[in-house]
Amino acid sequence: MRELRCKEVGMPNCEFVVRGKDDDEVMLKAAEHARHDHNMQTIPLDLARKARGVIRESSEPRQSKRG
Ligand SMILES: [Zn+2]
Repeated sequence: MRELRCKEVGMPNCEFVVRGKDDDEVMLKAAEHARHDHNMQTIPLDLARKARGVIRESSEPRQSKRG
């Protein structure tokens, strides 16, 4: 799973975290979120690039692999 934190894209007051199986899915969901919650009809190219830059591998504490 990949994840993107909205506040890392420049929305410091937004706690929304997008998760998806890959970067493309995360970007799709993030665009939806931006439309609904940030009133953005389209995502500017530079913002999209910034978003891709901060997508990271999701760390899910209860499913840590050991051994
Ligand atoms: Zn947000």
